[in-house]
Amino acid sequence: MRGLAKKRVLITGGARGIGAATAARFLEEGSKVAILDRDSLGLQESRNALPGIEKTLLADVSISREVEAAFSELDRHWRGIDVLINNAGISVRHRFLDIENKDWLEVMAVNLNGVFFVARSAAQRMAKQKEGGVIINMGSTNGLTGYPFYAAYNTSKAGVIELTRSMALELAPGVRVNAVCPGFILTPMQEAEYTSEMLREFERKVPLGRLGKPEEVAALFAFLASDDARFITGQCFVLDGGELAGGLASSPLR
Ligand code: NAP
Repeated sequence: MRGLAKKRVLITGGARGIGAATAARFLEEGSKVAILDRDSLGLQESRNALPGIEKTLLADVSISREVEAAFSELDRHWRGIDVLINNAGISVRHRFLDIENKDWLEVMAVNLNGVFFVARSAAQRMAKQKEGGVIINMGSTNGLTGYPFYAAYNTSKAGVIELTRSMALELAPGVRVNAVCPGFILTPMQEAEYTSEMLREFERKVPLGRLGKPEEVAALFAFLASDDARFITGQCFVLDGGELAGGLASSPLR
């Protein structure tokens, strides 16, 4: 990708899953990489696996003061940030009638408040830089269409998509802001939630016949952060193996 070498890239949720694959991809591109996560052991494991990672930041994105402290630490290291991959999130499966206040608030705290806290801290820095910056927020196909058993998650991701559009308008022209909306990507998040039979059933429903890979999401992040995407802002990019292409019609009987 053009223009990613030496860029200062912060990835939240970088300890595992899509975030860890994204750290590996930006290192391949010659970027400087920092990862933020609430999982201290996972941070250490990621750094052991990818020794090129320059900085690990321990913080819970849902706690504003922890996010601010992490950015202050990053300021001392880099004095700025060029790319934010705002990826950390959680998924909780509940029947709508059983959702308790604490379940709803937890999902909003991480997936919506957390994305906002991190995006605001990054944008405040990028807006002051001559070279601006790029922010990519993690949405989901769940933010674009209804899915049963995920009312809180779906609502949080729809909020991320609208936050992305609003930020893009206010932060242009210096800072580009986009969202990535994956469908089913096989990560520890999915493995924790579904049985292998359920995963096979999803594979059957996806037109491309398989679940996505974390590296495939990382590739889209790299493109959107690169100079090749410099006319793209305020958009939401779906990466779902065709899942949303045709609704019921996209799941032929095989
Ligand atoms: P994952 O394997 O669970 O990894 C997420 C990482 O984020 C974990 O290390 C997790 O730490 C961390 N994290 C969670 N809450 C945090 C918080 N409050 N503060 C800091 N770090 C936190 O998940 P993934 O599948 O890679 O998903 C990454 C993102 O992609 C999420 O936003 C998810 O909603 C989105 N997404 C995933 C899929 C999919 O199919 N996998 C599809 C669409 C969108 P803990 O281990 O402590 O929780």
